[in-house]
Amino acid sequence: VRELELIAAIRAALGARGGRVVRSSGDDAAVVRARPFAVSSIDTVVEGTHFRRSTHRPADIGWKALATALSDIAAMGADPGEAFVALVLPGDFEDVLELVASMEELAERTGTTIAGGDVASGPALTVTVAVTGWADSQEALVGRDGARPGDLVAVTGELGGSEVGRRHLEAGRRDGDLVGRHLRPQPRLAEGAALARAGVSAMIDLSDGLATDAGHVGAASGVQLVVRLERLPRPPGVTAEEAASGGDDYELLVTVPPERRTAAQEAARLTWIGEVVAASPAGTDTSSTGPGLVLLGADGARADLRGYEHA
Ligand SMILES: [Mg+2]
Repeated sequence: VRELELIAAIRAALGARGGRVVRSSGDDAAVVRARPFAVSSIDTVVEGTHFRRSTHRPADIGWKALATALSDIAAMGADPGEAFVALVLPGDFEDVLELVASMEELAERTGTTIAGGDVASGPALTVTVAVTGWADSQEALVGRDGARPGDLVAVTGELGGSEVGRRHLEAGRRDGDLVGRHLRPQPRLAEGAALARAGVSAMIDLSDGLATDAGHVGAASGVQLVVRLERLPRPPGVTAEEAASGGDDYELLVTVPPERRTAAQEAARLTWIGEVVAASPAGTDTSSTGPGLVLLGADGARADLRGYEHA
């Protein structure tokens, strides 16, 4: 009975937007009016692995779960569409509606409809969000594998703030801009779609830290990204090393053909941090960032840093 009441209360807290959803929560399955290309991603956050209830309020957890899923839609250049949410709730967790309200606030801001979900009881608070984004053509979407030698490398926003904010939280602080960046990441949906239209050659969202994620673009594209540490945009109180290795910023990294530089700059506020070169011969690169990325320090020497690898 508790579960049925809960589902009814959750349903009452959700709104539909955009006119795509024909049937949603309350039927056996959702029915959505499709555009030609569906872009799908799923993310799970688990208590103890991605957050602690001692530092993250229910509203923070709901926001983060949807934000991380939407960030992957942003990184493809797609428009946000629908989200489906599965909750595993421990017996002592009573603030489900607070968690859902925060998720719904982000859904409303981004034009997303939470169109269905499931609730179960279990040992650790777990939030799984499946999202669908939409595009009208394949060319409108950007993968990780399009970077070419001669392209320029840029990022949106500032890096490292979320990781330093997380450490402030662990030390008992809840105030300040950096804590806010950790608790309420903003998926760069408008920027992702605009950068895709501007003709960027590759794009990825920075969830595990630039030192890890930029290497994914290099590896997928069969090239090497050369990034200069001192160029990384960072908020006050964050070092260049923290900007390179800190996770959970959810900014976008793009590679840009030189002739697309002006268009990309008009599409989003970007900082230019490096360039793309040909890959080094197989087996010759044994650095911690892998063969797809070279991080250069202010002295021009290679810096050995790692991003965050989720358990
Ligand atoms: Mg991603």
